[in-house]
Amino acid sequence: MKKLINNNLLKKFCGDLDDKNLTMALVPTMGALHEGHLALIKEGMKQADICLPYIYLNPTQFAAGEDLDQYPKTLEADIDKLEDLNVAAVWLPSTHDIYPNGSQITHKAGALGKPLEGEYRPHFFDGVVTVLHRMFELSKPDYVMMGEKDFQQLQVTKHMAAQYFPEIDIIGVPTIRDKNGLALSSRNVYLNPEEYEIAICLNQILKELAQGAITEKKAHQKLLSAGFDKIDYCTCRNGNDFTAQNPTHALAAVWLEKGLGKTRLIDNMQITT
Ligand code: AMP
Repeated sequence: MKKLINNNLLKKFCGDLDDKNLTMALVPTMGALHEGHLALIKEGMKQADICLPYIYLNPTQFAAGEDLDQYPKTLEADIDKLEDLNVAAVWLPSTHDIYPNGSQITHKAGALGKPLEGEYRPHFFDGVVTVLHRMFELSKPDYVMMGEKDFQQLQVTKHMAAQYFPEIDIIGVPTIRDKNGLALSSRNVYLNPEEYEIAICLNQILKELAQGAITEKKAHQKLLSAGFDKIDYCTCRNGNDFTAQNPTHALAAVWLEKGLGKTRLIDNMQITT
């Protein structure tokens, strides 16, 4: 597997693909790879001739006081997993490659990035669209594979790509869950066994909300009695504009704060009623 550790190596790799008329699917990740990330890569390998995952812990999508410093870093294990999948190359850019003028926000997410996640992490989507804009510009993918787990991020990215990169297809991949339904996340390593037992209630309560079996108010009550310490949101929204009109998805962000550190979990489910 090739390791594209700077812009020159990336440029050469992408130039070779162009010369051979091969299509490429980009898979953005921040590393600490799990089966959710691997599902995106497997889909990317089906979709395009070449699948190129990248691992880059993007500083501009973390606010001061968030978990940038603690974020799990498992590069060797990540590379083993990619080699097991027979991925042709992995892109491992440096911050200098991505932010030659210093890590600053250069693109804004706009209206879609304001509600839900945007209300609680106002910097987040601007950081996401800034890094993705740069990554798309450098690697010129035909497809970009992204998880439905981060549903608002997927929609914000589709919106940004439609504006600046209409030639790129942004493809959503269904959420991969563990045997108890917990959506896989690199941050799940923060959970102690007691918190894990609480964390698995999130998907069960969201499912009841998405099936119309309980109201939003009841879902809040159930999350708190399951043991979650704080709820940022747990609500049904329209997946196109995230208003409450004609809701298509139940989405939630919740906190577990009593363990080793504070852990924020997000999840969503399609409404089935
Ligand atoms: P991250 O490394 O957390 O930034 O995630 C990189 C990509 O993997 C994003 O497009 C996420 O939505 C996707 N992803 C993360 N967890 C899952 C999961 N459990 N199932 C499917 N995709 C996921």
